[in-house]
Amino acid sequence: MNRFWKRAGRELGHAAILAGAGLLCAAVSAQTSAPPRTQSVSHDPAEPLQNKPRPKILPRPAGAIARASVDEKSMRSLIHELVGCGTRLTLSSWTDPKRGAGCGRDHVAARFNEIAKDSGGKLQVVVDKFESTSTRTSGKPIPLENVYAILPGADEKLAKTIFIVSGHFDSRPSDVMDPEADAPGADDDASGVAVSVECARLLSKAGANGHGKYRATILFAAVSGEEQGLLGSTHLVDWVKQQGYTVGGMLDDDIVGADTAPGGPHRVRLFSGNGEIDDADSPSRELARAVEEIDGRTAIRLVFRVDRYGRGGDHYPFYKAGLPGVRFTEPLEDYNHQHQTPRTENGVEYGDFEKYLNFTFMGDVARDNAEALRQLAQAPAAPTGAKLTGAVTPDAKVSWSAEDDPERAGFEILWRETSEPRWQLYDFGTAAGETALKGVSTDNHFFAVRSVGKNGARSIAVPTEMERRAPPLPSAPKQ
Ligand SMILES: [Zn+2]
Repeated sequence: MNRFWKRAGRELGHAAILAGAGLLCAAVSAQTSAPPRTQSVSHDPAEPLQNKPRPKILPRPAGAIARASVDEKSMRSLIHELVGCGTRLTLSSWTDPKRGAGCGRDHVAARFNEIAKDSGGKLQVVVDKFESTSTRTSGKPIPLENVYAILPGADEKLAKTIFIVSGHFDSRPSDVMDPEADAPGADDDASGVAVSVECARLLSKAGANGHGKYRATILFAAVSGEEQGLLGSTHLVDWVKQQGYTVGGMLDDDIVGADTAPGGPHRVRLFSGNGEIDDADSPSRELARAVEEIDGRTAIRLVFRVDRYGRGGDHYPFYKAGLPGVRFTEPLEDYNHQHQTPRTENGVEYGDFEKYLNFTFMGDVARDNAEALRQLAQAPAAPTGAKLTGAVTPDAKVSWSAEDDPERAGFEILWRETSEPRWQLYDFGTAAGETALKGVSTDNHFFAVRSVGKNGARSIAVPTEMERRAPPLPSAPKQ
């Protein structure tokens, strides 16, 4: 017990301490606005009043990726090669092997090809060429290329679900239209590319070593055109659709290379947008919650907003399409080291250089991405059509659908207080359809459902939608 708890304990008395840390937290935070009540920390009736389910909890899939298996050296050498291209601005040369975007593409493709060789032929490398236009291409179509490594899923049906990890290999100087200026882009975003490529190495190797069978397909991407207006990732949304995939989740790693503030290592930030549905959560938010649950609260700092204020990233086109897309970014950014043409002014050095990177931190990010992908790609499909009914009755009713899946153990019904950020397990059921939650109000919690495999892997949660019951209102006056 630390000093804080001791002090809180003196103020609240022993009863509160014994009531458990969760209740104690509620009491302590309430203290900031009102003095604690003397008798009890909660005056809410228990819900349900009695016989709360005690579901058994399947352990998560064995064979977690060990931090020690991350190859920081190869991440470092890939970033060094990318920085060595001088600039990787999308408007620079795609044909010069020594300088420009094409140089960046070549190094990523070469590394993916090496990893593919070690995967026993499982990993497939694709260079996807396309054109796109934006104000940052002067309104003219320009050629772009994305590089993908694809690890096909082992399950016939689920192989059409794809989980994506992505970084962008393009970089930019201060002037986003200047193809000549140096733009090392070590952190933004060679770091994210290194994370994506290291995930490919860890997971294609892990798959071969029996760390688990990926039922769904995993796509490791290094895209271009981010700085020109999210062109590569916007194209990727269409590309996966054209290939017949459904997006199970998209992890964008952008600026994940530095952790310079004192007192590290710190947690990586994970951004997820709210979505646009009242009283519910977006698929992106559910992906973020799933990643935090897999990797732990000591590794992931959830930020409930789509991105940093006034900034954008490659998860955004996925998010806007209603798909689960989230963004990893380092804990505290240094703006002198991003989007800056290298120079020194008034004794201040500007530029996105390798020397500011922290490979211990970046290795943690790679491991956390890989483990999230490993578990999500082993999970059964998420349920569909989750609904909440039973308003103005004693029992909330939760219903959902799911296709047959012999590898699925069942479903977890989740709930949370409307003011709480995270789901908790309420009950476990083996069959889709409708379940009545005896003595549970529809009104005091939010509800969701997720699938659980016999291997313990969980799908992302699907919040229940409710039928809107408009309260009686005065009639509109006659015109
Ligand atoms: Zn970036």
